[in-house]
Amino acid sequence: MNTETIISIGPLPEWVIEELGKDLEVICLDDSDRSAVLNALDDRVIGIIARGPVCVDREIMEKAPNLRVISRTGVGYDSVSIPDASARRIPVVYTPGAMTRGVAEHALALILSAVKKMGTWSRALQNGDWNIRYTTQSRDLEGSTVGIIGYGRIGRAVRELLRPFNTRVIADDPYINHSEFSADEIEFADLDETLSRSDIVTLHVPLTEETYRLINSKNIHRMKAESILINTARGNVVENLDLLYAALEENRLGAVGLDVFPDEPPDRNHPLFKHPRAFCTGHVAARSPRSQRRILDTMLRETKAVLKGNLPHPENVVNPEVLLSNPDAKLT
Ligand code: NAD
Repeated sequence: MNTETIISIGPLPEWVIEELGKDLEVICLDDSDRSAVLNALDDRVIGIIARGPVCVDREIMEKAPNLRVISRTGVGYDSVSIPDASARRIPVVYTPGAMTRGVAEHALALILSAVKKMGTWSRALQNGDWNIRYTTQSRDLEGSTVGIIGYGRIGRAVRELLRPFNTRVIADDPYINHSEFSADEIEFADLDETLSRSDIVTLHVPLTEETYRLINSKNIHRMKAESILINTARGNVVENLDLLYAALEENRLGAVGLDVFPDEPPDRNHPLFKHPRAFCTGHVAARSPRSQRRILDTMLRETKAVLKGNLPHPENVVNPEVLLSNPDAKLT
C-alpha cells in the first residue's frame, strides 16, 4: 500500500496525530537522530514536522521528492534550510506568536531569580548559614535599567511585563521603525549603548549570521560590571559557556539566566551549571500547556491548509513567495 506519510522529527501527542488525517501515516522519530530521519524518507513522504535540532536541509529534502510542506513548531526556523525549501517551492510553516507570552514570562522569572539571588539564599539556608543575611544583599528590580536586544514579539512582551516594576527599559533593534513606538513605551539605543547602560541585558533576537556569537568577549566587556545576562533566544547568540563562567568568576557578570545553549543538550558537567549565580533551564521557556496547545493548534491548521491546497495565514509562513504561484489557493 502506498500511504502518504508525514514524518515528525520529535514526538507528537495522540490528538495531533489523529487530527493530521485518518488517511495519512504519521511516523514520530527521535528529535535528534538524523540517520533515523534519513532512513524514514521516501517518495510517500508529503510532510515533515521539524520539532528538534535535526536540520531539514537539501539532503533530507532530496530523499522526499514528493514533499509538500515543512512545519516547525516554534518561532525559530534555523533548523530548516529555507533557500533549499524555497528552491523546491516547499512552504515552510511555523508558529510565531504562539509562545510569546510563555517565553516572556520565563525571561522575567530568570531576571527575578537573578536579581533576587534566589540560588544564594536557598543554598545558604540549606547549609544552615542564617547569618548570610548580614553579609550579602540582593537587589531590587525597581530603579534598574533593563536592556532588551531584539524588540520583536517577545522583547515587547517582556517590556510589558516589566511595567509594574518601574524599571527604565531601553532596546536595541536596528530592523524596526523606531518612530512607531512612543517614548513612554521604550527608548531605543544601539547595541553598545544598550550593553553599557543596562543592569540587566535580555536577549530576544533570532539566530542569524549577525547575531551568531553576538555576546562574545568584546561585548561582555562592554557590559556594566556585575550586570545580569538573560538568554531565552538561541544558545549560539552567546559565544560559549566558558566565556559566561569566566565572566561570573571575575564578577564581570553578576548572574546569568539561560534557557538555551550553544549545544543542546549541553554538557551537564560544565562548571557553569554548579555556579550559584547561574540560573539554567533546559529550553523549556515555552513548555506551558497554554503555549504548547497554541503551538500545536497553529501548526496543525497551517499544515492541513497547505496539504489541502489552501493558503495558510501569511504570518505563519517563512517563505510565502512560494505560495504565490498557486492561483487556485483559497484563504483559510
Ligand atoms: P521576532 O522575530 O518577533 O523578534 C525578533 C526581533 O529581533 C525583531 O524585531 C528583529 O528586528 C530583531 N533583530 C534581528 N536581528 C537583530 C540584531 N542583530 N540586533 C538587534 N535586533 C535584531 O521573534 P520573537 O518571536 O520575539 O523571538 C525571539 C527569539 O526567541 C528567537 O530567537 C526565538 O528563536 C526565541 N525563542 C525561544 C524560545 C524558547 O523556548 N526559549 C521559544 C520561542 C522563541
